[in-house]
Amino acid sequence: MIDANRVFLYDTSLRDGGQMRGISFGVRDKQIIADLLDTLGVDYIEAGFPGANPVDTDFFADLPPLKHARFVGFGMTRRAKLESSTDASLQTVLRCKAPAVCLVGKAWDFQVTEALGIALETNLSMIEDSIRAAITAGKEVIFDAEHALDGFKNNPAYMIEALITAHRAGARWIVLCDTNGGSLPTDILRAVESLSAHIPHHHLGIHCHNDADLATANSLAALEAGARMVQGTINGIGERCGNANLIPILANVAFKYPHLTLGTAGHHLEQLTPIARSFEDVINRIANPHAAYVGSAAFAHKGGLHISAIQKNSTLYEHIDPARVGNQRDLVMSQQAGRAAIMARCQSLGITVEAKAMEEFLEELKRLESQGYSFDGADASFDLLARRRLSPFPPFYTLRSFRVIDERRWNAKGELITLSEATVKMDVGDTHHMAVAEGNGPVNALDRALRTVLSPFYPEVNAIRLIDYKVRILTPTAGTEAVTRVTITSKDHDDHVWTTVGVSGNVIDASCHALQDSLMYFLMRSEGVCS
Ligand SMILES: [Zn+2]
Repeated sequence: MIDANRVFLYDTSLRDGGQMRGISFGVRDKQIIADLLDTLGVDYIEAGFPGANPVDTDFFADLPPLKHARFVGFGMTRRAKLESSTDASLQTVLRCKAPAVCLVGKAWDFQVTEALGIALETNLSMIEDSIRAAITAGKEVIFDAEHALDGFKNNPAYMIEALITAHRAGARWIVLCDTNGGSLPTDILRAVESLSAHIPHHHLGIHCHNDADLATANSLAALEAGARMVQGTINGIGERCGNANLIPILANVAFKYPHLTLGTAGHHLEQLTPIARSFEDVINRIANPHAAYVGSAAFAHKGGLHISAIQKNSTLYEHIDPARVGNQRDLVMSQQAGRAAIMARCQSLGITVEAKAMEEFLEELKRLESQGYSFDGADASFDLLARRRLSPFPPFYTLRSFRVIDERRWNAKGELITLSEATVKMDVGDTHHMAVAEGNGPVNALDRALRTVLSPFYPEVNAIRLIDYKVRILTPTAGTEAVTRVTITSKDHDDHVWTTVGVSGNVIDASCHALQDSLMYFLMRSEGVCS
């Protein structure tokens, strides 16, 4: 029995997502992403175009095993002048190892007559023949109706006829594509409702692009109108402004539409945050902190009133419990947060604070914030500060002095190069040390010099990777004399991420503060001073 309320998730990160500027997948990337998608529990993974390029050819030759999802090969309906059996591209798709194929065809009369330059009838035969050939080849067929929304606006009768043709030919799914991404939720609602009079709604799907920032809303509108397949990508990657983002769509279906059901994905919701973030690693981007549901700021509270309210009852300022999507609440520390919030944070760090010490700590916080420090987003520096003031621990090292020299010169090959050299003098325990290191820039050189001294004592520091470095001018009117705030985000081998901050009139000095906090925080955790 078909569950007419079951929503099927169709991921196209590996095909449509790969069209995004700055992204190119190798075979290994595709394998890792397919594994993430399978763990997330999506129903279909569109793997690419069989035979169209070397990466896809290699990937399809050796598709990794999946626990839940089905692979889909993507291709076009047959060409106008060829038969299905003689169209080599279509045949390659039909012979691919994936159990399902997605065939894209035209549903807008203008595209048929203008772009293809063929008769409207011919386009219908191309759709019908290609789908029948795919079914004969034993495939489950998904029909992506390109420009379906434009077709519906301009010539609804033809658009509907094209989609009915695909359904009659045996396609399991008929998917309306908002190819140009400019539709509104009401457009989608109307199109899906009209089609439902001709094709059972649980055979309809939606494929949105985010050009009007409406891809999530449009996908949900289609589901409200009865469509039951959503196509999209992880974190909304895709050409131009991206495809529909499956992460919030999945979470919204799970939490906001009680009558809709999900397959495996419905049981793996706590995987959403780790998977969305791991995906960013694979594509070499920094995860968006403000991403709905899964961003590090999605449940961050800063205002004192919000923080004290949320400690009484989280539903006062949160639409869902962050743990349900594998995320966590973050109480942003600043003087604004108020005494109660800072006390709560210290308690969670295992620090017991007396009233007098707390007053001094708040004063210190006020002073640092007036200098330009911001612990908003720099939790590691806040924790370090709280511990130093309220529950001192023996320092792992002391930096006595540092010096950085930059040099620009022509090398032996005749190229103009810039190199930095850093010298540090440090105490570790009772011993004095000096180290010199080179780097492509002053921060890099300094980082290397610090680690050169520390690694014999604390070899684990070599596992730290700097993943983001930001400089912000705090006094822009001061020109090059401006005070700068440097924020550094680091990561260890366990994927633990932490952020530290430094402020100074000298950008190298500010960087050095942030860098040192990062090392100190890491040592504090790895040496068991805090959790
Ligand atoms: Zn697309």
